[in-house]
Amino acid sequence: MRRKLVAGNWKMNGSRAALAELDAIAAAAAAAPDVDVEIAVPFTLIAAAADRAPALAIGAEDVHEADSGAHTGCVSAGMVKEAGACFTIVGHSERRADQHETSHDAWAKAAAARRQGLRVILCCGETEAERDADRAERVVQAQIEKSVPDNADGSWFTLAYEPRWAIGTGRTPTLDEIAAIHAIARAKLRMLIGDAAAGVRILYGGSVTGANAAAILATANVDGALVGGASLTADKFVPIIEAAA
Ligand code: PEP
Repeated sequence: MRRKLVAGNWKMNGSRAALAELDAIAAAAAAAPDVDVEIAVPFTLIAAAADRAPALAIGAEDVHEADSGAHTGCVSAGMVKEAGACFTIVGHSERRADQHETSHDAWAKAAAARRQGLRVILCCGETEAERDADRAERVVQAQIEKSVPDNADGSWFTLAYEPRWAIGTGRTPTLDEIAAIHAIARAKLRMLIGDAAAGVRILYGGSVTGANAAAILATANVDGALVGGASLTADKFVPIIEAAA
């Protein structure tokens, strides 16, 4: 039985003052013991977030694929762990688009995170043009094939299906479309990692809100949500946690 996971992603938002939002989020997480609640914050806020909300899992939004070295401006998995992170997102579509990251990069970052004992949320998802061309399933399968480490299992690895065109747009796929991609993602994981696939959580991400969360979370093979905009404030994030409970 996979526990539901509701993960937030603050992206390049937030400040020390915004960490006050974590108080109500932590209270909602404590009131929902069957739901795992995690929040990825900018590097600069990891330590303060972990101090303020020790009961919440605080994570990074990205890490470098190397453990250390001459990579000016980059941050390693070991560094975010020392700051207080217990997981990281890798392969987010905004990094794929803005920093030209590939599925191979996501694989290397997931492996680096694992080496340092971090849990990983690895993102995949098609563009609108790919969906319109009826290529969504093939694109997601190829991303999974290239990015999921051989040793992935549910103890440290989570997959997030995030159609790029649904991120921050207020648009979502239909529940049938979500179920279809999650089913092919699960089947692909089974091909790659065998029985361990049954324990890997697959999150849906893209314009999840308190209004649509219950229906999305009740969809087959949806084990939780990765939430961007609605994770920034407790009034929007707490209803999603409650919907998962
Ligand atoms: C995300 O960036 O991972 C995301 C799902 O964003 P939003 O919820 O704002 O669509």
